[in-house]
Amino acid sequence: MSKKGTIGVTSDNIFPVIKKFLYSDHEIFLREIVSNAVDATQKLRTLASVGEFKGETGDLRVTVTIDEAARTITVSDRGVGMTEEEVEKYINQIAFSSAEEFLEKYKDDKAAIIGHFGLGFYSAFMVSERVDVITRSFRDGAEAVKWSCDGSPEFTLEATDKAERGTDIVMHIDEENSEFLGREKIESLLTKYCKFLPVPIIFGKKQEWKNGKMQDTDEDNQINDTHPAWTKKPADLKDEDYKTFYRALYPMSDEPLFWIHLNVDYPFNLTGILYFPKIKNNLELQRNKIQLYSNQVYVTDEVQGIVPDFLTLLHGVIDSPDIPLNVSRSYLQSDSNVKKISAHITKKVADRLEEIFKNDRSTFEEKWDSLRLFVQYGMLTDEKFYDRATKFFLLSDIEGHKYTLDEYRTLIEGVQTDRDGQVVYLYATDREAQYSHVKRATDKGYSVLVLDGQLDTHTVSQLERKLEKTHFVRVDSDTINNLIRKEQPSSEVKLSDVERSSLIKLFEARLPREEKKHFNVAFESLGTEAEAVLITQGEFMRRMRDMAQL
Ligand code: ADP
Ligand code: MG
Repeated sequence: MSKKGTIGVTSDNIFPVIKKFLYSDHEIFLREIVSNAVDATQKLRTLASVGEFKGETGDLRVTVTIDEAARTITVSDRGVGMTEEEVEKYINQIAFSSAEEFLEKYKDDKAAIIGHFGLGFYSAFMVSERVDVITRSFRDGAEAVKWSCDGSPEFTLEATDKAERGTDIVMHIDEENSEFLGREKIESLLTKYCKFLPVPIIFGKKQEWKNGKMQDTDEDNQINDTHPAWTKKPADLKDEDYKTFYRALYPMSDEPLFWIHLNVDYPFNLTGILYFPKIKNNLELQRNKIQLYSNQVYVTDEVQGIVPDFLTLLHGVIDSPDIPLNVSRSYLQSDSNVKKISAHITKKVADRLEEIFKNDRSTFEEKWDSLRLFVQYGMLTDEKFYDRATKFFLLSDIEGHKYTLDEYRTLIEGVQTDRDGQVVYLYATDREAQYSHVKRATDKGYSVLVLDGQLDTHTVSQLERKLEKTHFVRVDSDTINNLIRKEQPSSEVKLSDVERSSLIKLFEARLPREEKKHFNVAFESLGTEAEAVLITQGEFMRRMRDMAQL
């Protein structure tokens, strides 16, 4: 048998289009070809499990080899292979995939197939001047065939010799893409895209340093962990397993604070583990660490627009076959599955934080400082999250006590109310610099919060907007004097009337004449600090304070 034909596309010029525009990144050809090999292997496993394949499955592995002299990269599998008809159907017709048919037929067996669109294979032409497919189907008596195409719409298909079941994809790398013939390059790409694929991916032998140079050992260089933590049942994992997996993902990071194991199968499929990292005071450096997978194939770690903004501060893995692999970011953002996934993750994150808060408040409080920025960012950017987070968002007072919003309200409501009936939340933004003001307030029996974080000014205006009759006031502002004070016997000012009137005169004399009508003078004990303070109103406050210190 030997055949020539024209690839089934409507336009003769599809190849230049594929080469240039289908994928922004040339390197993903390797992901596509290896994931096809994995799919073929998974299909064979499924067929064996339902008894449609009765032979020996043998060692099901995918091997990747480079031949620098021949300028080829070969990806070989021992999966289902293809008959001549299947090559004509699936390879010759662009955008024709066997994935859907297969999934439909074996849907009860939960086969996880990566393929989707029938476009992946052609990405090999982004880096190849010719691609050969040498394949033999698992079916009894199937003949091996070799398909070959140089990137024009013409292909050849002929009988060939192949002893083993499965497929070899041989990519003849073109001049422009010689970098892909480097061992390190391919190993780094395999590590990036294939690190958690469910079938062993072997790339040469492990190497070791010996006699002054790197040398092959006898051990196969397996790229991937075929059963990453997120694919296991939470009940089968210990804390240490989660931490080990975290270190595998982010070798240089501090230990995570908490994690969430996601596992959904309705109305969409989603698994994954999300970790709460310790958030340092720089939000921007923390972003884009979540890795997105589709059936254990790495897709991207640029998840902005896919998950709500604040969740990009989390680390970990999300795996969903419902997140399409090969589409643009703007498409992803409008995809309804992606939207549902986002909403679900937000809910799970809130559930988890609430659960830890309820079950183990002291741990939660201990970690609050590292968690606070994340929670605040979520509250500020996501209404739904705000509603949930009001249950576990904590305010810290000057002594380090932590309160929920409700608890704190109860604490100060009867004590710190201004003349308009607003409950006044006093806060310090800098406890050192505002020390004397803090002391003045606490001496009066008021509570003072510490709000010195990166997002605290935003949180303050949000809480003022959201909570009824709530007014946040800096501890060094003048409003504090207008609060309806608790009874405090020690606040009696020990000055005689004569002393008072002479002091009033003294202060008035220091004011320019035209400003006199804008202020009034009153006396107040500062407790241990000083005997009296000058009270003024409005814009002259700072000036008057300076004067009082003269
Ligand atoms: P998809 O993977 O989305 O189905 P591809 O363009 O990557 O699309 O592949 C098209 C089809 O070619 C696959 O659906 C499969 O039927 C067939 N195919 C590709 N590679 C292999 C392989 N290594 N073994 C068996 N079949 C393959
Ligand atoms: Mg594919």
